[in-house]
Amino acid sequence: MAAAAGVAAVLPAGPVASQVRFGSYPFQLGVASGDPSADGFVIWTRLAPEPFAPEALGNTIYELTWEVAEDQAFARIRASGIGLARAHVLHAVHVEVGGLEPGREYFYRFRLGKYESPTGRALTCPVGEASRPLRFAVACCAHYEQGFFSAYRYIADDRPDLVLMLGDYIYEDAWGERRVRLFDTPEAQTLTDYRRRYTQYRTDPDLQAAHAACPWLAVWDDHEVDNDYAGVTGENEVCGGAGVRDSFPGRRAAAYQAYFEHMPLRPSRLQSGMAARLYGALDWGRLARFYLLDTRQYRSVQACPNAPTPWRCDNDRGRKILYSGAGGGGFVDPEEPACKAALADPARTMLGAEQERWLDAALADSRANWNVLTQGVMFVTILESWNGSPRIFTDAWAGYPPARERLLASLARHQTANPVVLTGDIHSFWVNEIANAAGRPFGVELVSSSIATSTTDKSQVLPLNPQVRFHEGNHCGYIRCDLDRDRLRADLVAIDDRLDPRSGRSVLASFEVRAGDPHAHRI
Ligand code: CA
Repeated sequence: MAAAAGVAAVLPAGPVASQVRFGSYPFQLGVASGDPSADGFVIWTRLAPEPFAPEALGNTIYELTWEVAEDQAFARIRASGIGLARAHVLHAVHVEVGGLEPGREYFYRFRLGKYESPTGRALTCPVGEASRPLRFAVACCAHYEQGFFSAYRYIADDRPDLVLMLGDYIYEDAWGERRVRLFDTPEAQTLTDYRRRYTQYRTDPDLQAAHAACPWLAVWDDHEVDNDYAGVTGENEVCGGAGVRDSFPGRRAAAYQAYFEHMPLRPSRLQSGMAARLYGALDWGRLARFYLLDTRQYRSVQACPNAPTPWRCDNDRGRKILYSGAGGGGFVDPEEPACKAALADPARTMLGAEQERWLDAALADSRANWNVLTQGVMFVTILESWNGSPRIFTDAWAGYPPARERLLASLARHQTANPVVLTGDIHSFWVNEIANAAGRPFGVELVSSSIATSTTDKSQVLPLNPQVRFHEGNHCGYIRCDLDRDRLRADLVAIDDRLDPRSGRSVLASFEVRAGDPHAHRI
């Protein structure tokens, strides 16, 4: 029997209930699994008969039964136990299931009294040589207001083994011309705000289907907290009537807590509330090692900020925002002398010193056929031309060139086999070839378009960027990958119309990366 771990070491007191009656179905936010290992995974649900009134459950601790079976009918149950739903984490339940067999499919569900959750599907990682190819979906950037989540529905239909979520799972704020539905709170700032945001997302049936389909590996980008934040520096400082500066570290901690409450992650990785160890590696047998990188929590502030506009108004709600000039990315001239010096500063970091050391060690001992860097922001530098003068985007790796060269030097030093970089963030599809400053080719970067966020066409930059093999910025979608020892096949799947909840889909383009060949081939 596998062990069940609770959500936190501190157990608040409260009455315990296992036989209950609610006014409505308590599993309406669905189920999820994540963080797979060779012997288990995390399974998640949140007890929520009234999802937007979590206080209705009071302080009561609910004892949920969970079951993991080899079959969808639960005739062959292989693990079961009790998971406690407690008020201090919004009655979310994270169970770390262990003791299972490697490399196979399982099904799981929760029960409380007469109520039974939907059934989810999870998989354990294989050990040694994988017996079949790995299918994974690459997803990012799901703005709830700007589009329906058809891309998530199609990801579930593809029946992948893993979903890699590269960040911007939620958006903290509203913008855009055409909105198919609305957030129920203004820009998220507090724990209550962020919790409402995740709750609203999890009511979406297409998102629930993608969570139930297979385990997720998730990293965050900026919008889980604040646009373009860097470390403990927010994009801007909100001034209320009295001009009070908001406390960004406290806001970030609230956002991190709500994230961990709602994602199928091992709860031990939320360290103190103020910090979280999100980064880590996962071995899919010998086939692939996935490196989940945190490109937000430890990074230096963006280099050479644009001359700040002293005030701008939040056009939705009329609040005034003081643009600090300290945080946030911009398009800057990399040849401008002061900016050039800032960009060249080796002290500036994307991953932070500790994560860099961890990544170097994890690359050093990898024996995987493929090494997949799973992360938020564009890795190759995209050069733009603004009225004839060059521009780069400082929020991406282009704004941290020494940090990127250090990572590439690690890959070279350890002769890392078949590196692939997976990227989100910019609401458009890209297939890029990676090279270091000396022009040595390393491998391929695949950039997924957004699940639902309005897209950005950058076709005009293609003549300046021969490292880009493909770009399309007019469709939302995701990337479906099929990986075996010899090749990675990537299908760039486009959603016909993000404004249509029943949108169709099509494959925009397919690329192949062959083992031992650092180039992308269109097929
Ligand atoms: Ca982003």
